[in-house]
Amino acid sequence: MGRKLGQHFLRSAPVLGRIVALAALAPGEPVLEIGPGRGALTGRLLAAGARVTAIEIDPALCAALRARWEGEPAFRLIEADILRADLAPEALFGTPARYVVVANLPYYLSSPLLFRLMAERERLARLVLMVQREIAERLLAEPGGGKDYGSLSICAQHAFLLRRGFAVPPGAFDPPPKVHSAVVALEPRPRRLAPEREARFLAHIQRLFMNRRKLMLSNLRRLYPDAGADWAELGRRVERARAEALTPAEHLAVFEALYGAVAPQGLGGG
Ligand code: SAM
Repeated sequence: MGRKLGQHFLRSAPVLGRIVALAALAPGEPVLEIGPGRGALTGRLLAAGARVTAIEIDPALCAALRARWEGEPAFRLIEADILRADLAPEALFGTPARYVVVANLPYYLSSPLLFRLMAERERLARLVLMVQREIAERLLAEPGGGKDYGSLSICAQHAFLLRRGFAVPPGAFDPPPKVHSAVVALEPRPRRLAPEREARFLAHIQRLFMNRRKLMLSNLRRLYPDAGADWAELGRRVERARAEALTPAEHLAVFEALYGAVAPQGLGGG
C-alpha cells in the first residue's frame, strides 16, 4: 500500500520547519493538511498554533493519528480520499473562513489534486505544497522554458501566483523516494471567468498541448473545425506561434476570441 499511496514520510526537522515558516500561520488559523501520514508535519502545524483538519486515506495511519491526538481540540482527522472529500470550509472547520493548505503531497496525485485545488481556490487563503521537483519546474516554467512549459504551467499560473520555495533531497524522507522534491508556495488569483467557463478554458489548454509542436492556428482549426471564428483575426493574433510560446494571459485572450464563436460543447471540459 505504501508505495502505491506515495508514502514517503518527512524526517528532516529543518525541512519541516521551513515548510511551516513558509505557511506564515497566524495563531488559530485553519489549515487543511493533505496526507498527514505519521503526523510529522501535523505536529509542527499544531505547535505553530494552527487549527488543523487533516485528510488521510490510509486506515492504519488514521488509527495511529487518532490515538496520538485524541482529545486535542485543534486537530480533526477525516479518513477519506482527498479527491472525493468535501473541501468547503464549513465541512472542514465549521466556519466559512478561507483556509491554508499545507501538504507533502503523494506524487501520484499531484496533477489531479492541483486541478481540484484550482477549482476550489476561492476557499483557500494560500498553499504550501511539496511536489516532485519536475512538477515544481513545470508549475513555475515560463514561455520559452522548453518542455517544462505546458498545460500545467498555464493552468496553474492562471489560477495561482506561484513562488519557488526550496529544494528537498530524497534523504529528507523515510523511505527516500527515487526523485528529488521541491516546495512551492501558491496564492489564489481572483477568478476572471465564471467556474464553468474556466473549466472549459483549462480543458482547452490541455487539448492544445496534446499537440504542442503544432502551430497554434492549425491546432485550433483542427480542434474546433466548426467554430465560426474570425480565423484571419485569430491568425494575426497568434501569428506563427506554437502553444508553448504564448503566456497564460495570451492563451486566455485566444480562448475568449474563440469562445464567442463556438458552441460551448465544442470547447469541452464541462
Ligand atoms: N505528511 C506526511 C509527511 O510529510 O511525513 C506524509 C506524506 S506522504 C508523501 C503522503 C501521504 O498521503 C501518505 O500518508 C498517504 O497515505 C496519503 N495519501 C495518499 N493518497 C491519498 C489520498 N488520495 N487522499 C488522502 N491521503 C492520501
